Amino acid sequence: MLQCGRLGHALLFSAREWLGAEQLGHDFAKYILCETTPKKTQACDACRSCKLFQAGNHPDFKALNPADGKKNILIDQVRELLDFYSLKSHYGAGKIVLIFPADSMNRAASNALLKLLEEPPSGALLLLVAHRFAEIPMTVRSRCIRIPCERVEEASSIQWLSAQLPTADQDRVDHLFKQSNGAPLKALAMAKDPNLDQSAAILKSIVDLEQNRAHPLSEAKAFGDLPLEELLDNMISITTQLILAKFGCVNFYDRASPLSIEELSPFIDHLNSKRLYLFLDFLLHSKGLIASNARPREADMVASLWLGLSDAIRS
Ligand SMILES: [Zn+2]
Repeated sequence: MLQCGRLGHALLFSAREWLGAEQLGHDFAKYILCETTPKKTQACDACRSCKLFQAGNHPDFKALNPADGKKNILIDQVRELLDFYSLKSHYGAGKIVLIFPADSMNRAASNALLKLLEEPPSGALLLLVAHRFAEIPMTVRSRCIRIPCERVEEASSIQWLSAQLPTADQDRVDHLFKQSNGAPLKALAMAKDPNLDQSAAILKSIVDLEQNRAHPLSEAKAFGDLPLEELLDNMISITTQLILAKFGCVNFYDRASPLSIEELSPFIDHLNSKRLYLFLDFLLHSKGLIASNARPREADMVASLWLGLSDAIRS
């Protein structure tokens, strides 16, 4: 596109989470600003522009994200872009703003951005990166060139993951990649946090149960190696979060879940909060039981946990 001279003034990269879309946006901006000619397929990493970019000091680049502790990008932040664009490009390769997550702009911010999209200052390039393409207003979407990045190539992702995890053997790398549903950054996060790996596996199995793709007793068997206390703690944590997510109190999707928003969101909608509360009571009661002298037979307990769970999530 760049080589054909057909680069528009606004590009919208859409990708599900954990595929590295934000990084792609950064790399792309660095590449456009790179001063080495003729352009290669990547930024040179050696010129003045690349060095400034890497140091986070490039005067022709600005990253726009929600302010610390905030969920949304606000109108004042978008208005500040006008100031940024009002100055001439320092190095003559245009001025680039990367907006991430573009789907976190509230309505007022989107409207302010629309003005920029409709009357782009000369040399302005806007890069929007979004995980939830559908959340971006049609008026904004229609003024951007969309670049879908929904898939990553499996072989190169696994190769990349192996390089990040030099001590992991091939089976472990393959397992992580599969658990992450083919999202290499998520697989890496899971590898670094074993708890995440485990609760992600349990969550995946919960969704499989709800959609009748699994049977509670086969799941009980599949997680048979997990110590009972750990299984209980994980289930308590997941159930609590499902209840909170049901009420919109936590963003469940930020976790390294093996499922995409598209898969999780209808699942959470179908849940019945009363049943979840009852199941949580049951879990807490079970935790008390295993700590007491009346500790039941472990296999029975594990089976009853999975049967109870299956009952709690099916409508
Ligand atoms: Zn360069």
